[in-house]
Amino acid sequence: MTDSLAIVGAGAAGAGAAYALRDSDVDVTIFEKSRGVCGRAATRRKEGCRYDHGANYIKDADGRTTDLLSELGEDGLVDIEEPVWTFDAAGQLSEGDGDRDAHKWTWEDGITQLAKRLLAQTDVHVDQPTRIESVERGDHWHLTDTDGETHGPFDSLLLTPPAPQTAALLAESKWNDERLPALIEAVGAVSYRTIRTYVLDYGFELDVPYYALVNTDKNHAVGWLSREECKPGHVPDGETLLVVQMSPDWSTDHYDDPLDESAPTVAQMVAELLDDERLSDPEWVDDQGWRYALPDDGAVDDVIRSAEDERLYFAGDWVVGDARVHAALWNGIETGERIGESLRGD
Ligand SMILES: Cc1cc2nc3c(=O)[nH]c(=O)nc-3n(C[C@H](O)[C@H](O)[C@H](O)COP(=O)(O)OP(=O)(O)OC[C@H]3O[C@@H](n4cnc5c(N)ncnc54)[C@H](O)[C@@H]3O)c2cc1C
Repeated sequence: MTDSLAIVGAGAAGAGAAYALRDSDVDVTIFEKSRGVCGRAATRRKEGCRYDHGANYIKDADGRTTDLLSELGEDGLVDIEEPVWTFDAAGQLSEGDGDRDAHKWTWEDGITQLAKRLLAQTDVHVDQPTRIESVERGDHWHLTDTDGETHGPFDSLLLTPPAPQTAALLAESKWNDERLPALIEAVGAVSYRTIRTYVLDYGFELDVPYYALVNTDKNHAVGWLSREECKPGHVPDGETLLVVQMSPDWSTDHYDDPLDESAPTVAQMVAELLDDERLSDPEWVDDQGWRYALPDDGAVDDVIRSAEDERLYFAGDWVVGDARVHAALWNGIETGERIGESLRGD
């Protein structure tokens, strides 16, 4: 009989796990709550523009990521050429260090291509939009969604939502196992920084030598600012589209402020930072709140690995404690490989 795996979440980790099992006999189903794929590595289209409003690009930490992205197809693959500069709390700009100028990957069609291209190599079924609310362990795993529909049975289960959402799923689970409270505590203990992203569009070009500015002393209300027009295919000629990520403190304080009230404040900060008064008056604005943007640390490895004998697995940036797309991707791939080995009985 074919082994089956349910994956909750089609982000880099979930798609990576499915990709790792592409040549196996495992029958994989992904449940994803949103209409798109790639999670926090997100792309939106508006007013003729395309912008990555979550993760900005994929870093090539150790060479293997670049190899994998090339294998997925080089058409439309973008390596952002312009450098990342830095700024401090006083708004003083400085040229960045070399490390920030390593490969910066995305695609003309947006960073969601990562999950799309990984999944295109598989025959997994992505069930979406389906939000899983609880999981149940009997002889197999069953999942229940927010419409009350039950899915299963599955031999193995892989959970990839951000840690607080994974902890909530575990808290709702029907699984009679003495390890469950420790598991919920370990996963729930991972803390996160919140980021509110603002998107500011202008009908003119900006003549600056950098792709992005990052606040290195973490004392400015603006944490990151980047020029989406440095990515081919994202912004029409003659326009500027700034992706502005506010600091965790500012984002938490202003998370629910209406866009039309908070965007002028953000635009004014950007105009001052870049010393260009035109930037205080964007043509149009957009935003996205990321409550669980960046995990601060990882979950205790041996606690979360302890459930693997019941064929319950976890993957994602929070598992490795590195808030990066490539970290989530490789953690997903390695977890997928481990699931394949376990189901084969290796
Ligand atoms: C604003 C911002 C900027 C960033 N910038 C960068 C950057 O420049 N470079 C970089 O490398 N990283 C960056 N990151 C971090 C990067 O986006 C993450 O580390 C990475 O995308 C995490 O992938 P993941 O698969 O672990 O989780 P996610 O991408 O969060 O995927 C989890 C998936 O699970 C789904 N899900 C959650 N709950 C349920 C449920 N109950 N049922 C069904 N589906 C569910 C979600 O919809 C999501 O698709 C940034 C993140 C943010 C928010």
